[in-house]
Amino acid sequence: MNVLLLGGTTEASAVARALAGDPTIRAVLSLAGRTRAPVLPEIPARVGGFGGVDGLVRYLWEHSVEVLVDATHPFATQMSRNAQAAAERTGVRRLVVLRPEWQREPGDAWSEVADMRQAAAALGTQPRRVFLTVGQQELAPFASVPWHDYVIRSVDAPEAAALPPRARCIVARGPFEVEAERRLLEQHAIDVLVTKNSGGTATVAKLTAARALRLPVVIVARPAPVAGPTVVGAAAAMAWLRHHAATSAARGV
Ligand code: NAP
Repeated sequence: MNVLLLGGTTEASAVARALAGDPTIRAVLSLAGRTRAPVLPEIPARVGGFGGVDGLVRYLWEHSVEVLVDATHPFATQMSRNAQAAAERTGVRRLVVLRPEWQREPGDAWSEVADMRQAAAALGTQPRRVFLTVGQQELAPFASVPWHDYVIRSVDAPEAAALPPRARCIVARGPFEVEAERRLLEQHAIDVLVTKNSGGTATVAKLTAARALRLPVVIVARPAPVAGPTVVGAAAAMAWLRHHAATSAARGV
């Protein structure tokens, strides 16, 4: 069974690792190319956009893809919509792999906002020391509230032109530990954390540390997930794929 796995997430990497030794499923992992040195699993990979829905449709046909697994980041809505449209046009089966959102817990001081512009506005007019963990592509709204001091953490160093003034950058890739996150928040005298509600375990420690230090958090809410067959997490995705491979083989597809 030929599978195209849309990735860029911990879940997609876990599915790719599980598929590496599977003789019944031939999978290709697709990455957007946002990270300069991605960690590649032991299955074939391709990097870069397909060229919209038309390009993805062409890819699915040319590579005889039977199942499209959308394990993209919860904020990668364009790719998910393209996957939905391309699957509808080609009749290729599609599975969405969801990652549960982070939930507010007792002691949390979260301000939930709809997008990055609102996140920047929520920081207010008094200068604050901000720990910004929103990815290197979405810094522009913070450059327009330059009275705050920013510590920015991302997997790759952001372009200098995208940075708010006086920003300090930390280049690091998760998973992160609670104690180290707590030390980092204290060392930089952070008084507010800004994050997307990405969910998952790799980067949740910053929220636990913020709770322990009673720091406020500005959190960008998730966009609505695309419709369609959905599982939560890599293990359920593997169960779905193995079941589908077995039933396809039994039908002689
Ligand atoms: P997006 O806005 O949904 O996608 C934009 C375009 O990038 C897509 O239309 C597609 O180009 C290409 N693309 C995205 N994912 C792809 C994949 N797995 N394989 C091949 N092409 C892919 O997503 P985004 O620009 O990557 O990111 C949007 C949000 O998600 C940001 O908040 C970002 O921080 C977050 N995020 C993304 C990733 C990731 O790996 N993509 C990882 C972590 C966080 P074509 O239309 O040309 O096919």
